[in-house]
Amino acid sequence: MIYLKTDEEIELMRVANLLVGATLAEIAKHIAPEVTTLQLDKIGEEFIRDHGAIPLFKGYNDFPNALCISVNENVVHGIPGDYRLQEGDIVSVDCGTQINGYCGDSAYTFEVGEVSPAVKKLLQTTKESLYVGINAAMEGKRIGDIGNAIQHYCEERGYSVVRDLVGHGIGRKMHEDPEVPNYGKKGYGALLRSGMCIAIEPMINMGKKNVKIEKDKWTVRTADRRPSAHFEHTIAIRQGKADILSTFDLIDEVIKNKN
Ligand code: MG
Ligand code: MG
Repeated sequence: MIYLKTDEEIELMRVANLLVGATLAEIAKHIAPEVTTLQLDKIGEEFIRDHGAIPLFKGYNDFPNALCISVNENVVHGIPGDYRLQEGDIVSVDCGTQINGYCGDSAYTFEVGEVSPAVKKLLQTTKESLYVGINAAMEGKRIGDIGNAIQHYCEERGYSVVRDLVGHGIGRKMHEDPEVPNYGKKGYGALLRSGMCIAIEPMINMGKKNVKIEKDKWTVRTADRRPSAHFEHTIAIRQGKADILSTFDLIDEVIKNKN
C-alpha cells in the first residue's frame, strides 16, 4: 500500500529530514582520526533529542543505537562501538529522526583525513548516482527508472550495485511501500505519483556486489572486503523535478570549512 502525502504532510516530512541533515552536519564536525563510532553516535542522539525529535533507528528491530555507522568494507547497518576512526577510512553515517509523527532518513559517507584517490572516486560516483536517481524520479515514471539510472551510472564507471538492500517509501513509518532498488529496468515497477515520498539510497561497491551479514546480525559488509559507499536522500515525487526533503548543504559547508 503506497500512501500519497498531502502538501501539509510533505512539509512535516521536510522538518524531520532537515533535522537529519543538521544532525549529519554536527557529526561531520567531529569526524577525525581517533574518534570512536560510539562517540559519534552519542553526539548524534543528543543533537536529535535536543531538537525535540526521536532517533528513529534506536530500538527499531532492537537496533541498539541512534545512528548506523559503517566503516570501509561495511556497507550499512554498522553498530557504533569502540572502533577508532583512522586516517584514510571512509565512514557511512545513516541517520533517521521522527518528529510530529513523520520520519526523516538520510545518509552520507565521510572521508577521515586524506583518503586514496580511488576511494575518493568511489564516494564521488556514489553521491553523483544518488542525484542521477533523483533526476529520474518524477510523476509518470516508474520505480525501475530510478534504479536503472543509478545502476547504469555506477556500472559504467566500474562499480557494482548492492542488490540485497534497497531504498523505500517513507512517511509516518520509516519503511513504507514501495521498495526502491538501486538497479532495475526502465518502465517497470510502481508508477511514480505526485505526493509519494521515497528514500533513495545507492549502496555502491568498489569490488563485487555480494554482501555478507556479520555475526552481530546487523552489520552488512562486502563479501570481498573492498570498500563500499552509501548516500541517501528522502524525496517527494512531483510533476517534473522531485522535491529533495533532506539536505547535504550543511554537511558540505562543514567539510569545506574543515579543509
Ligand atoms: Mg537511512
Ligand atoms: Mg533508508
